[in-house]
Amino acid sequence: MVRWTFMANSKHSRMHFGVFDLFKIGIGPSSSHTVGPMIAAGRFLREHTFETTPARIKTELFGSLAFTGMGHSTDSAIMLGLSGCLPHTTNPDEAPKIVKAVHSSQTLKVFGTENIIFNPLKDIVFNFHDRFPHHSNAVQFTAYDVQGNVLAQQTYYSTGGGFVISEPETRQNEPFEDMRPPPFPFDSADELLALCKTHNKSIADIMLENECAYRPKKQVLAGIDTIWSAMKDCITRGMQQSGTLPGPMKIKRRAHAIAQSMDAQTDLSKYDPLKVMDFVNVWAMAVNEENAAGGRVVTAPTNGAAGIIPSVARFFDCHIRGRKDTISLDAFFLTAAAIGSLYKKNASISGAEAGCQGEVGVACSMAAAGLAAAMGGTVLQVENAAEIGMEHNLGLTCDPVGGLVQIPCIERNAMGAAKAINAARLALRGDGSHHVSLDTVIETMRQTGIDMQEKYKETSKGGLAVNVPEC
Ligand code: SF4
Repeated sequence: MVRWTFMANSKHSRMHFGVFDLFKIGIGPSSSHTVGPMIAAGRFLREHTFETTPARIKTELFGSLAFTGMGHSTDSAIMLGLSGCLPHTTNPDEAPKIVKAVHSSQTLKVFGTENIIFNPLKDIVFNFHDRFPHHSNAVQFTAYDVQGNVLAQQTYYSTGGGFVISEPETRQNEPFEDMRPPPFPFDSADELLALCKTHNKSIADIMLENECAYRPKKQVLAGIDTIWSAMKDCITRGMQQSGTLPGPMKIKRRAHAIAQSMDAQTDLSKYDPLKVMDFVNVWAMAVNEENAAGGRVVTAPTNGAAGIIPSVARFFDCHIRGRKDTISLDAFFLTAAAIGSLYKKNASISGAEAGCQGEVGVACSMAAAGLAAAMGGTVLQVENAAEIGMEHNLGLTCDPVGGLVQIPCIERNAMGAAKAINAARLALRGDGSHHVSLDTVIETMRQTGIDMQEKYKETSKGGLAVNVPEC
């Protein structure tokens, strides 16, 4: 059996993973299985020079992409990507129509104009046997001419959170070598804390200055606003939708019904001090129901875990910031992104690589840090919050029932959001001193991910996926 290695570590040394890498606007249901393959398909066509328009393009999906690709709409993502769609601009309402047209016409429009014969059932192959050594989520594209000669072939890895790397890039020492180092480079939490201390800056300050090395400050702050708006829109849409989610299980959407039942509670004599947690639950679930339905979602840092950060940000926005709207949410998102970048560099944000600790665990850690920072926590309290957020998600497996990002994913986001708020509160009640450092917990998460059996890494071959009937 081939075991793939984690793609983190030295390759990403001194790289800047910024707020717009961790938070990307796309569509559901999965950043690694939908957004990544869509990007890879587009890259395949853009990165190769074809002397003649391909007569056929074959796509082969490996590892986790094969095992859970059908439930994660990877086949649709491939069709959309080859048709020239990009995750951040694709209208989630139009996408199913494009896919349906490919199925019914058995053709696909490449390069904007050329129709090629395309039979999704034959031209997208789910390979359950072979694996590539670098990452479970491998996708290989092969273009043929009319005689069946290979015009081009390339393999890409979808490494979680919408990040995509080609096979040649895995062999380079620095896959993104064109990227200049930021003014405050850091590869570990210790280095980040040292930078904060030396320069008397918060984590958000350090992150903002790093972002401003690549784009004007005005653009950075406007971009964060756009991300927050997209998250809020997603919560709103998710709370308005009812009915069932796509898939054979016909899972009922719950966010709308819970929100309605909360609205109906008008008896103020029945004061419920934990009602705020109902909101936190419903916001997180609204996002993940939208994600499961293929709606517009922001990776945070992945689609599967996309509900935690919006829910915690909304909690801060509604229940803590209140009328003091001069306090911005920039510190929340910048801090969360800084913490997410540490996991991306030193461990993984991919369920196929690290199990759900790499998705919901990381999102919980990021949200806890963001909330602690927004609430005025010190740098050490913020680091403590991030550490607590991951420590109690260590070992969390990925076992989506039916290969769909629904059970346990939707509810798990509500749990992750509640845990993040508690982690921030615990940290803010202390003075920042603690026994387990963030670096230690990230390394522990990495080792646990390596030790975790593959059936618990987004293959739907273990856990709830084999114990819960699909219909
Ligand atoms: S179980 Fe966790 S890692 Fe797996 S698909 Fe669901 S949210 Fe993602």
